[in-house]
Amino acid sequence: MALIVQKYGGSSVADAESIKRVAKRVVDTRRAGHDVVVAVSAMGDTTDELLDLANEVAPIPAPRELDMLLSSGERISMALLAMAIHSMGFEARSFTGSQAGMITDSQHGAARIVDVTPVRLREALDEGAIVIVAGFQGFNRDTRDITTLGRGGSDTTAVALAAALGADVCEIYSDVDGIYTADPRVIPKAQKLDHVSTEEMLELAANGAKVLYIRAVEYARRHGVLIHARSTFSSAEGTYVLGEGMKNPREAEGAVMEEPIVAGVATDFSHAKITVAGVPDVPGKAAEIFKIVARSGANVDMIVQNVSATGRTDISFTVPKADAAAALKSLAAEQNEVGFQNLVHDDQIGKLSVVGAGMRTHSGVSATLFEALSAGGINIEMISTSEIRISVVLRGDDLAEAARTVHTAYGLDGDTDVTVHAGTGR
Ligand code: ADP
Ligand code: ASP
Ligand code: MG
Repeated sequence: MALIVQKYGGSSVADAESIKRVAKRVVDTRRAGHDVVVAVSAMGDTTDELLDLANEVAPIPAPRELDMLLSSGERISMALLAMAIHSMGFEARSFTGSQAGMITDSQHGAARIVDVTPVRLREALDEGAIVIVAGFQGFNRDTRDITTLGRGGSDTTAVALAAALGADVCEIYSDVDGIYTADPRVIPKAQKLDHVSTEEMLELAANGAKVLYIRAVEYARRHGVLIHARSTFSSAEGTYVLGEGMKNPREAEGAVMEEPIVAGVATDFSHAKITVAGVPDVPGKAAEIFKIVARSGANVDMIVQNVSATGRTDISFTVPKADAAAALKSLAAEQNEVGFQNLVHDDQIGKLSVVGAGMRTHSGVSATLFEALSAGGINIEMISTSEIRISVVLRGDDLAEAARTVHTAYGLDGDTDVTVHAGTGR
């Protein structure tokens, strides 16, 4: 008998029928003799709809109230799932994040888990119940307020529960069969990975692969939680995310795992590019500019500075689209002090990243990327690398086509198209 944590995303609990399907999966796991703890997301696109509603009544909703509102989405699905399980003759008990002991810091909208005290969950498990926990939410002890963990945060709830309860595995159920070499909605010929290392998954998640939330992967790495990403809509085995020293459960069954050089390709439309043009080419200007950007709260991703021929230079950088307005406003306010000539805002960019631990030991990985883009006639605007990743910024309109070309160039294409079972991709 094992203790299994299962997380069901919004597309898995989108309507009554789907909730009954999830209830059946949970009950089947229980019938197999395991203890089950479930973390659920809000139904379908509920969180987006609640956000839209908030923005209709207030241009900048108060963060405390926004968390109150958004956390209600997961309460609905947890109670409905518990009811569906009851009607199948099994005992299930639902808990809010705060009842489950999900203690966070006080940062509304992006709270971090600081402690998990699952006393009530243990009691319920000891009494033989299936435990259902509302994902994405926690409680701050100082303010005594409800917090949320950031978009996609139910993944973190599940991993944190798995760590606190010492679960054997944390299964993250979604509308695709696992983690693929690319987003199957962008590249239908993507192939399912048997496993991916935590460091590769962190790079993929940080660069647009929302199949797992980056903070959940970080948490799993820190606490040694085994993640199995799989589908609610099929019984196929999914993808294991393996931390250092972790054994692939399938290797124990005798499977031999080959390590590819490139694990996958990620695409990201969520950034904008800001160019500070005509910056005096003297020491200290970059420091001034990025201090101003940091003060605006914007998170800078990529940076390029062109060589100057005229004593002035252009500095371009990317930030999440949502941060761009604040960064531009702060820079504009200090134009005279910094002495730059003008600002250009470009929100029509896309970022393509190639990720693979094999890059450390293989040469020619970047050459393949640049050749593929050149053959496709696609212009590169910015480049950045880490030890196991190469990213390029392109025109947003070119991104999907570029990703397909690059995916083919690395030999990642499968023979058939992937089925995406549900969800709107929102
Ligand atoms: P959930 O609502 O269950 O949390 P998400 O929408 O957050 O599901 O994540 C699943 C989606 O992630 C898929 O439908 C797919 O479009 C997208 N995705 C992006 N990159 C990948 C990838 N490399 N492998 C699988 N899915 C991916
Ligand atoms: N419902 C939240 C969201 O849509 C959390 C989650 O689904 O993980 O972001
Ligand atoms: Mg998700």
